[in-house]
Amino acid sequence: MNMDDNFWMQFALREAGEAYRAGEVPVGAVVVLGNVIIGRGHNSVETLHDPTAHAEMLAITAAAETLKSWRLIEARLYVTLEPCHMCAGAAVLARLQKIVFGAWDPKAGACGSLAAVTQDERLNHQVEIVPEVMEAECGDLLKRFFKELREKRLAAAKGETSAPSDRPGAGDQQQE
Ligand SMILES: [Zn+2]
Repeated sequence: MNMDDNFWMQFALREAGEAYRAGEVPVGAVVVLGNVIIGRGHNSVETLHDPTAHAEMLAITAAAETLKSWRLIEARLYVTLEPCHMCAGAAVLARLQKIVFGAWDPKAGACGSLAAVTQDERLNHQVEIVPEVMEAECGDLLKRFFKELREKRLAAAKGETSAPSDRPGAGDQQQE
Protein backbone atom coordinates (compact mmCIF):
# COMPACT_ATOMS: atom_id res chain seq x y z
CA MET A 1 0.00 0.00 0.00
CA ASN A 2 1.38 3.39 -0.76
CA MET A 3 0.92 6.55 1.25
CA ASP A 4 -0.23 8.45 -1.79
CA ASP A 5 -3.30 6.24 -2.07
CA ASN A 6 -4.11 6.78 1.62
CA PHE A 7 -3.77 10.52 1.17
CA TRP A 8 -6.35 10.69 -1.62
CA MET A 9 -8.66 8.18 0.01
CA GLN A 10 -9.13 10.63 2.87
CA PHE A 11 -10.88 12.97 0.44
CA ALA A 12 -13.14 10.15 -0.72
CA LEU A 13 -13.93 9.44 2.94
CA ARG A 14 -14.81 13.08 3.44
CA GLU A 15 -17.29 12.76 0.56
CA ALA A 16 -18.71 9.60 2.15
CA GLY A 17 -19.27 11.67 5.31
CA GLU A 18 -21.32 14.12 3.25
CA ALA A 19 -23.51 11.25 2.07
CA TYR A 20 -23.87 10.00 5.64
CA ARG A 21 -25.03 13.42 6.87
CA ALA A 22 -27.58 13.52 4.04
CA GLY A 23 -29.01 10.15 5.12
CA GLU A 24 -27.58 8.38 2.07
CA VAL A 25 -25.63 5.13 2.12
CA PRO A 26 -22.18 6.60 2.84
CA VAL A 27 -20.03 6.13 -0.23
CA GLY A 28 -17.69 8.85 -1.48
CA ALA A 29 -15.35 9.25 -4.44
CA VAL A 30 -12.81 11.59 -5.97
CA VAL A 31 -11.08 11.54 -9.35
CA VAL A 32 -7.45 12.66 -9.26
CA LEU A 33 -5.21 13.66 -12.14
CA GLY A 34 -1.58 14.21 -11.21
CA ASN A 35 -1.88 15.92 -7.85
CA VAL A 36 -5.23 17.60 -8.44
CA ILE A 37 -8.76 16.49 -7.58
CA ILE A 38 -10.74 17.05 -10.78
CA GLY A 39 -14.03 15.55 -9.67
CA ARG A 40 -15.83 14.69 -6.43
CA GLY A 41 -19.03 12.93 -5.62
CA HIS A 42 -20.99 11.24 -2.89
CA ASN A 43 -23.86 8.83 -3.16
CA SER A 44 -27.04 10.85 -3.82
CA VAL A 45 -29.59 8.33 -5.12
CA GLU A 46 -32.21 9.31 -2.55
CA THR A 47 -31.62 13.07 -2.71
CA LEU A 48 -31.63 13.21 -6.52
CA HIS A 49 -34.17 10.38 -6.98
CA ASP A 50 -31.69 8.94 -9.43
CA PRO A 51 -30.56 5.30 -9.42
CA THR A 52 -27.42 6.30 -11.33
CA ALA A 53 -26.33 8.94 -8.80
CA HIS A 54 -23.61 6.79 -7.27
CA ALA A 55 -20.54 8.56 -5.86
CA GLU A 56 -18.31 7.32 -8.69
CA MET A 57 -20.71 8.39 -11.47
CA LEU A 58 -20.96 11.90 -10.04
CA ALA A 59 -17.18 12.14 -9.60
CA ILE A 60 -16.47 10.84 -13.12
CA THR A 61 -19.02 13.21 -14.68
CA ALA A 62 -17.54 16.13 -12.73
CA ALA A 63 -14.02 15.18 -13.82
CA ALA A 64 -15.05 15.00 -17.48
CA GLU A 65 -16.65 18.43 -17.12
CA THR A 66 -13.43 19.78 -15.57
CA LEU A 67 -11.31 18.43 -18.44
CA LYS A 68 -13.96 19.15 -21.09
CA SER A 69 -13.29 15.63 -22.29
CA TRP A 70 -14.83 12.21 -21.74
CA ARG A 71 -11.37 10.65 -21.83
CA LEU A 72 -9.96 10.59 -18.32
CA ILE A 73 -6.70 8.99 -19.39
CA GLU A 74 -4.15 8.77 -16.53
CA ALA A 75 -6.79 9.78 -13.98
CA ARG A 76 -7.34 7.68 -10.85
CA LEU A 77 -10.63 7.07 -9.05
CA TYR A 78 -10.55 6.81 -5.25
CA VAL A 79 -13.75 5.40 -3.80
CA THR A 80 -14.63 4.10 -0.36
CA LEU A 81 -16.48 1.00 -1.63
CA GLU A 82 -15.80 -1.43 -4.48
CA PRO A 83 -17.63 -0.06 -7.55
CA CYS A 84 -20.75 -1.78 -8.92
CA HIS A 85 -21.26 -2.93 -12.54
CA MET A 86 -22.46 0.51 -13.63
CA CYS A 87 -19.58 2.42 -12.08
CA ALA A 88 -16.92 -0.10 -13.11
CA GLY A 89 -18.34 0.14 -16.64
CA ALA A 90 -18.16 3.93 -16.52
CA ALA A 91 -14.53 3.71 -15.37
CA VAL A 92 -13.70 1.56 -18.40
CA LEU A 93 -15.53 3.93 -20.77
CA ALA A 94 -13.70 6.92 -19.25
CA ARG A 95 -10.35 5.13 -19.78
CA LEU A 96 -9.40 5.60 -16.15
CA GLN A 97 -5.92 4.40 -15.31
CA LYS A 98 -6.61 3.07 -11.83
CA ILE A 99 -9.36 2.50 -9.28
CA VAL A 100 -8.35 2.53 -5.62
CA PHE A 101 -11.10 1.40 -3.29
CA GLY A 102 -11.58 0.85 0.45
CA ALA A 103 -14.04 -1.90 1.33
CA TRP A 104 -15.04 -4.89 -0.76
CA ASP A 105 -18.72 -5.11 -1.66
CA PRO A 106 -19.51 -8.84 -1.77
CA LYS A 107 -23.16 -8.08 -2.64
CA ALA A 108 -22.71 -5.74 -5.60
CA GLY A 109 -19.03 -5.19 -6.37
CA ALA A 110 -17.87 -5.55 -9.96
CA CYS A 111 -14.11 -5.14 -9.53
CA GLY A 112 -13.47 -8.66 -8.30
CA SER A 113 -16.46 -9.66 -6.14
CA LEU A 114 -19.39 -10.51 -8.44
CA ALA A 115 -17.53 -9.72 -11.63
CA ALA A 116 -14.31 -8.14 -12.81
CA VAL A 117 -15.63 -5.64 -15.34
CA THR A 118 -12.45 -3.60 -15.06
CA GLN A 119 -10.25 -6.59 -15.99
CA ASP A 120 -12.32 -7.96 -18.88
CA GLU A 121 -9.88 -8.28 -21.79
CA ARG A 122 -12.74 -8.46 -24.30
CA LEU A 123 -13.23 -4.74 -23.66
CA ASN A 124 -10.83 -2.27 -25.23
CA HIS A 125 -9.56 -0.91 -21.92
CA GLN A 126 -8.69 -2.34 -18.54
CA VAL A 127 -8.37 -0.44 -15.29
CA GLU A 128 -5.78 -1.24 -12.65
CA ILE A 129 -7.39 -2.14 -9.30
CA VAL A 130 -5.96 -1.39 -5.88
CA PRO A 131 -8.30 -2.73 -3.15
CA GLU A 132 -8.37 -2.40 0.64
CA VAL A 133 -6.92 1.09 1.01
CA MET A 134 -8.13 2.44 4.38
CA GLU A 135 -10.52 -0.52 4.33
CA ALA A 136 -11.39 -0.30 8.05
CA GLU A 137 -12.31 3.39 7.97
CA CYS A 138 -14.38 2.99 4.79
CA GLY A 139 -16.16 -0.12 6.05
CA ASP A 140 -16.81 1.24 9.53
CA LEU A 141 -18.77 4.19 8.19
CA LEU A 142 -21.01 1.83 6.20
CA LYS A 143 -21.45 -0.48 9.19
CA ARG A 144 -22.40 2.46 11.39
CA PHE A 145 -24.96 3.66 8.83
CA PHE A 146 -26.64 0.26 8.52
CA LYS A 147 -26.58 -0.30 12.28
CA GLU A 148 -28.38 3.00 12.81
CA LEU A 149 -30.81 2.16 10.03
CA ARG A 150 -31.64 -1.14 11.76
CA GLU A 151 -32.13 0.65 15.06
CA LYS A 152 -34.49 3.16 13.43
CA ARG A 153 -36.47 0.31 11.91
CA LEU A 154 -36.61 -1.50 15.23
CA ALA A 155 -37.89 1.65 16.89
CA ALA A 156 -40.47 2.08 14.14
CA ALA A 157 -41.54 -1.53 14.50
CA LYS A 158 -41.87 -1.27 18.26
CA GLY A 159 -44.93 -3.15 19.38
CA GLU A 160 -44.99 -5.31 16.28
CA THR A 161 -44.11 -8.98 16.55
CA SER A 162 -42.08 -9.28 13.36
CA ALA A 163 -38.61 -7.80 13.14
CA PRO A 164 -37.82 -5.50 10.23
CA SER A 165 -35.79 -6.91 7.41
CA ASP A 166 -32.11 -6.77 7.98
CA ARG A 167 -29.34 -6.30 5.50
CA PRO A 168 -26.12 -6.46 7.47
CA GLY A 169 -23.16 -5.25 5.52
CA ALA A 170 -25.21 -4.36 2.46
CA GLY A 171 -22.99 -2.14 0.47
CA ASP A 172 -25.04 -1.03 -2.48
CA GLN A 173 -25.78 2.64 -2.68
CA GLN A 174 -29.54 2.32 -2.85
CA GLN A 175 -31.61 1.86 0.20
CA GLU A 176 -34.43 -0.56 -0.22
ZN1 LIG B 1 -22.02 2.17 -8.60
